[in-house]
Parts: sequence; C-alpha cells; structure tokens
Amino acid sequence: MSKKLTSREEDYSKWYNELVVKANLAENSGVRGCMVIKPYGYAIWEKMQAQLDKMFKETGHENAYFPLFVPKSLFEAEEKNAEGFAKECAVVTHYRLKGDEENKGKLIVDPEAKLEEELVVRPTSEAIIWNTYRNWIESYRDLPILVNQWANVVRWEMRTRLFLRTAEFLWQEGHTAHSTKEEAIQETEQMMNVYATFAEEFMAVPVVKGIKTEAERFAGADETYCIEALMQDGKALQAGTSHFLGQNFAKAFDVKYTTKEGKQEYVWATSWGVSTRLIGALIMMHSDDNGLVLPPKLAPIQLVVVPIYKGVDQLELIREYITPYLEELRAKGVSVKFDDRDTHKPGWKFNEYELKGVPVRVAIGKRDMENGTVELARRDTLTKESIQIADLTATVERLLVEIQENVYNKAFEYRKTHITEVDTFDAFKEVLEGKGGFVSAHWDGTTETEEKIQDLTKATIRCIPLDAKEEEGVCVFTGKPSKKRVLFAKAY
Ligand code: AMP
Repeated sequence: MSKKLTSREEDYSKWYNELVVKANLAENSGVRGCMVIKPYGYAIWEKMQAQLDKMFKETGHENAYFPLFVPKSLFEAEEKNAEGFAKECAVVTHYRLKGDEENKGKLIVDPEAKLEEELVVRPTSEAIIWNTYRNWIESYRDLPILVNQWANVVRWEMRTRLFLRTAEFLWQEGHTAHSTKEEAIQETEQMMNVYATFAEEFMAVPVVKGIKTEAERFAGADETYCIEALMQDGKALQAGTSHFLGQNFAKAFDVKYTTKEGKQEYVWATSWGVSTRLIGALIMMHSDDNGLVLPPKLAPIQLVVVPIYKGVDQLELIREYITPYLEELRAKGVSVKFDDRDTHKPGWKFNEYELKGVPVRVAIGKRDMENGTVELARRDTLTKESIQIADLTATVERLLVEIQENVYNKAFEYRKTHITEVDTFDAFKEVLEGKGGFVSAHWDGTTETEEKIQDLTKATIRCIPLDAKEEEGVCVFTGKPSKKRVLFAKAY
C-alpha cells in the first residue's frame, strides 16, 4: 500500500482527491472532466440507487427511458431552460468520420455527413420528455404521470472534481405531469422530503431543506426546492433539487388536457434529481485522515473478516470456526467478506479496509480459536475489542446500527456548531473567513445584493430554509428591511 493520505488539516482538497483514488472509488479518465467510476465506487452508487428507487416506487413512480439526444429545435422550445443550459451543451453536428487522405491512419469528420439538425447531448431531459408527454396526455384521466429515469447527462463544466462536479454524470431525473398546481407543488415538496430522508437516514448526512433564490433557481422552474449539506471544511454542497416547473414546459410543448368539465388546460410539471455527486458528499462528510468512513447502510462490505494464519491447514480451521457465524449474519442481510487471499499480509489488509471505510472488521488467529474469541474493530472510532465468538452475530448487528447513528450524530454536531447568526457585514465576513459553515443573515430579497455579496465574499445564498421563522430585521449588506434569515455559505 502506498504511503499515507495527505491530512485534511494540511490540504482538504488534496486529501479528498487522494482518498477517492486510493480507496479505489474513481479516477480521472482520458476524457477531460469525465471520470471512471471503479467497481468499489460503483457499488456505493448501486446501493444508493437501490434505496432511492425503492423510495420512488413507494411514492408511486415508475421508471422509463428517453433518448440521450435532443434535437436543437426541441431544446430551444422552453426559452429560459435553453438559455440557462446553452453554455454547457455538447452538440453533435456530424454522424460520420472518414479516413484522412493526407494523413494516413487518421480520421477526419466527413463534411458530407453533416446533420440536417444538430443534436444536443441532454444536460437535462425536460425538453425531450415534454415533447413526448404531448402524445401521452389528452384528458384528466391520463394524469398524473409519475415517471423517473436513471441516466447519464452531460454538462460541459469548466472546473471539474471527481464525483462533485463532472462533465458527464450519472443521475436520476423524475418528470411528473399533473392536472393542478396544488398537486404539482405537493409532488415537488414530497420529493424534496424523500431526498432529505435518504440523505439523513441512509447517508447519515444532515441537510437543510429550503428554497433557492431566483438567481440560483433551475432554468425554466418557477420554484426550486433543495437540500443543502455542510462538508467538514465548512463549505456547503447542494445535495439534491426538486423543481416546480409551473406550466412552462406544457406551454412550450403545447401539452394540454381536457378537464372533467370539458375545458382545455395546460398541464402542471415537476422535475427532481440527485446525482453521483452524492458519493462525493458521502466521502467528504464522514471520512478521516486514515481514509473513507462509510455509514453501514450504504457500505458495499459491512463486515470483513481477516484470518491470521500460517499455512493452508490453519486457514481451513479458521474458516470452519467462523463460517456458521458468517452464514447467520448473511441470512440477516449483512454483507460479509471473508478475505482469504494469501497474496497479502493481514496488516496490509487492515490498512486497505480502513482506507475503504468498511464499518466492522474482525480478525481471528490461532489463539482466538483456542479462547473462543475474535478481535473486533470499528472503523468510525478506530477502537478494538476482543469478544466471545458466540456473541459475534448480535454484536455486529448492534454495531452496524450504532455506527450509523454515531456518524450521523457527529455530522449533526458539526453542522449545529457551524450555523452562525450574524447581524453585521463585518461579522458576516469574519465567520466566512474564520470557521466557515452556514451564515444565517437577513437579506433584502434582491438579486443585486446577492451578487454583490458573492463578488465580495464568494458566498452564495444556499437556500431560504423552509423552517425560517418570520422576524423583523435588516439586510446585512444594504440595511433594507427583511422578514427572514437566509443561509449563505461558500459552496462546492
Ligand atoms: P439540477 O438539474 O441542476 O437541479 O441538478 C440536479 C442534481 O444534479 C443536483 O443535485 C445537483 O447537485 C447535481 N449536479 C448538477 N451538476 C452536476 C455535475 N456537474 N456533476 C455532478 N452532479 C451535478
């Protein structure tokens, strides 16, 4: 195993990149801004997908799949959406390459194979989906449509970081159609709540639920709801968004339905998404200078067993000794790995599983077998204890619950001490330059002030928290009246 990680204290950003690569989660690829998600990283994504998919289905959604390409004319139809995403679009102009006559072995774009209409590689799928929904919807009986798709999208991001911001990313996007505004808003809020539950109960990441300001709103939405998390370096991360799209896409694509009374009305829309960025959040939230710390509910391996043995005979004895317990744990749904590789020493394996954030590790040697014990180590606290093997199943089950709670509580404590109320701009800057985190301050409600504050401090309004209470105050920057505090932070 290569040498230790850079510490968080020394260089947080370097620590993160090294961790992602060394823990075998992902790496940069030959394509600018695009990453390779390695099997261990993908296994985390699969666990996230499985849980989210279950939650989407429990709330009545079905999966479908729409094309990767959007003809430019369709993309343009909803003007605000098109304008908002235009700068990040990859565009296909040709459909063929041919041999370069002047440069043997090289290929050039065949000028004769120019597409009649350019195709935009989807940065998001509202356009293609609403163009389809026009054919699916005639009357109120066809509503609601509750569809989700698991897909990849491309946004030509200039500054990329593994998982957090990549040019191509994996995500899910829900696209729903409703007969009333109230129902669509209810759906938007419901999905924000689904995301918040997933973040807190599975990722062990506490989030603030809120609404985006106009400047930060999704292009083409009337309202964007979001969940915002705070990372260990005091920077915020937008972890998920749910958009109330009003009738904007229905109008752009002429999607109307006949009401019970026989009138023609435009359909109401929502869309909502989370991406592989969540893996970045998971890594940044809990990990330490020894490597990844995974909450048990999303850990691909929850328990690893490392035998300490000399020779094949001893290995087989250990296997016999432990197997009934591992079978019992597997039957209870615990994912268990027995690492019997003879290509690596136990110490090397310990380091590797620490780096990979496996929540519980068990080591067994000859002496343990004689004593009827095993040595058990937990990743979150790095503590070790010797327990009776008869207690293994119950102890592991209890520990998985305890570790999940412990990493959440730690993250929650951190966030609690990193939301600071300020009433002057000097205090505002001091907090941002000092301990960081969310700064809770009054704001006059204008985009102009928001932009000025961003220019001066790099902090943006992360959200107007849903639970913000009404109070009389004045904007930290302009002194104009304000009725609610909003959360500012520097963000990823
Ligand atoms: P949006 O469609 O812009 O609301 O984004 C949906 C989700 O994708 C949000 O949770 C974003 O945080 C996430 N997201 C946006 N851009 C990227 C990116 N370049 N890489 C990874 N995730 C992203």
